[in-house]
Amino acid sequence: MTDAVLVLNAGSSSLKFAVYPHAEGEPTAILRGKIAGIATCPVFSASDATGQPLPQDARMPLPPDATHADLIPALLDWIQSHRGGVTLTAAGHRVVHGGRRQTGPARVSDALLEELDKLVPLAPLHQPHNLAAIRCVAASAPDLPQIACFDTSFHRTQDRLAQLFALPRALSDAGILRYGFHGLSYDYIASTLPAHLGTRAGGRVIAAHLGNGASMCAMKNRQSVATSMGFTALDGLMMGQRCGALDPGVVLYLMEEKHLSTAEVTHLLYSDSGLLGVSGLSNDMATLEASIAPEAREAIELFCFRAAAELAGLAAAIGGLDALIFTAGIGENSALVRRLICDRLNWMGITLDPNGNIRNARFISTAASAVDVLVIPTDEEGVIARATQDLTRG
Ligand code: ADP
Repeated sequence: MTDAVLVLNAGSSSLKFAVYPHAEGEPTAILRGKIAGIATCPVFSASDATGQPLPQDARMPLPPDATHADLIPALLDWIQSHRGGVTLTAAGHRVVHGGRRQTGPARVSDALLEELDKLVPLAPLHQPHNLAAIRCVAASAPDLPQIACFDTSFHRTQDRLAQLFALPRALSDAGILRYGFHGLSYDYIASTLPAHLGTRAGGRVIAAHLGNGASMCAMKNRQSVATSMGFTALDGLMMGQRCGALDPGVVLYLMEEKHLSTAEVTHLLYSDSGLLGVSGLSNDMATLEASIAPEAREAIELFCFRAAAELAGLAAAIGGLDALIFTAGIGENSALVRRLICDRLNWMGITLDPNGNIRNARFISTAASAVDVLVIPTDEEGVIARATQDLTRG
């Protein structure tokens, strides 16, 4: 029997999971996987500790119309019977919003859930699913300790100015603030900086988390000083399907003159914009890079133009730049995107090493570059696993 913690990341139609045995040091998953297409046509995929996909007969059986409520108890049973038996000692969840109060991972209680329920209107696409998964686990394993790890917590070190919108004071007091997201990814990146940068780890660093969702975080002393996402995960960089920063006058125009409903505007901004909207082809960067369509190239160029501009703005918040970190699907894999962004930032002293960049090497700047540029794969699940183990140990 192996004692392990379960990490869950529940979305509207997917459930990602990973299983981490108790261990000192870097957490390493023995099993990770995903159930996609929940409530329509669920598809199960999982891989072992080496990243090898599990064979068909080792996968969890899925009823076709299963909901999260059916799948979570089935997943718990399946994991516990996996490979000679796993004893789950705790579950850690990715929770998108912790509001102003949650500055780090927290043990789940009725009071915490009540507090997090109140934040649902701030993250309606994610928070309800995150909380429903916690409640499902509690219903099927009432004695299993649960830990909530928030995407907003890492940014709670920011000064008031970095969190304020230029809105009437009463609205800021009511919680309309820049919260920032992708905090688990930035937490991981911050934790790795000393190993890569030594004493320079505490300097002025910008991490660019470029995945389907994309944001940047400016850090000093490995703490968040400013970030590109704001009140929602819609702000800041152009993303796969989200528009990023937008003149709010566009929204008013669409509603007043084009008579779009709130639901239609929501869909436009969250699902029909970004790389998909500009290219008219795909939200997927690798697909756009492989395309010869001029619209695909324009979407990539706009993505990089906006990213460079955002980066320069964030550098102002930390008084310059010592290191730039690329992470997440695009940041870790797209040499083209890194080059197009960095080429626009030569004036800041950034010079890429083309060979290192093509190879996705750890250091991709030249020795003469005033700014170190690194590629560091992120590990949000590992952050949740460690926090879950730490908060439930003993
Ligand atoms: P999510 O936000 O869903 O976790 P990921 O971090 O997995 O997203 O990033 C997905 C993005 O990374 C997609 O746009 C995908 O095309 C892009 N990506 C992955 N590999 C490559 C690659 N080799 N070249 C360019 N883009 C890539």
